[in-house]
Amino acid sequence: YASLNEMGALYSMFDQMRTEIMYLSMQRIQQEKAQKELITNISHEIKTPITTIKAYIDSILEGVCSDTETMLEYVEIMRTHTDKMARLVEDLLLQTLQDLGQITVEPREQYSREVLHKILKPIGHYVRTNELTYIGPQEIPNVLIYIDAIRIEQVISNLVSNALKHTPPSGSIRIDVQLEAGMLKVIIADTGSGIRPQDMPFVFERYFRGNPGSAPQRGTGLGLSICKTIIEAHGGTISFTSKHGEGTTFYFTLPLC
Ligand code: ADP
Repeated sequence: YASLNEMGALYSMFDQMRTEIMYLSMQRIQQEKAQKELITNISHEIKTPITTIKAYIDSILEGVCSDTETMLEYVEIMRTHTDKMARLVEDLLLQTLQDLGQITVEPREQYSREVLHKILKPIGHYVRTNELTYIGPQEIPNVLIYIDAIRIEQVISNLVSNALKHTPPSGSIRIDVQLEAGMLKVIIADTGSGIRPQDMPFVFERYFRGNPGSAPQRGTGLGLSICKTIIEAHGGTISFTSKHGEGTTFYFTLPLC
């Protein structure tokens, strides 16, 4: 009996090991698949703006731009596409740092009105060049916050870029800043496609990309996971509400000093 019992125990130990090995190799396969998909998506994401920029440069060199107005329009389009590439490279860098557990925030005390005004200033223009209506904050509460302005700018820029991606022309993007429960709350709302209920639990997960029909571009699935890391490193929270077909509102909070 003793040896039968021992064999039974040994068998269940092996069985457990086998399950663990299978689980680990499945995880490994999934990670490798995600990495490969990431490279495909990055290549695609970079190829599109490069092709566009090159087409505009070619037109300029061929003398298609006869007047300053058209030239400025072309340069503006090239700038939008360059910004897109810059954001993508920044996301990739941040993702590597996140993997290494090294996303650093270097906060300092500053007044919310000044810093947010500076961050939001170019956004209205950016939204309007995408043929959408921009509704900025009425008044930004002026409180002392302890933040890394560069990182918070990355968060806002990611959220606005998502809103742009998922909102068809003639829609609108609204940004608001409020004081709520002793925190500063930044709200970015769009009138776009919304997020499907089945995608909602996963949007902050790395590499997750939701409904493919909702945006013309593919994306890398990194943006929101990076936003969450940055906001949580500041001691804040990030969340959203969304109604499929009606729009999405992302909001994050920052503690006051
Ligand atoms: P990416 O935009 O590269 O796909 P993100 O991490 O920024 O990655 O977003 C993850 C997913 O969340 C997106 O693929 C999309 O399905 C959904 N999503 C994010 N923001 C919005 C939004 N404003 N409207 C609709 N869906 C959104």
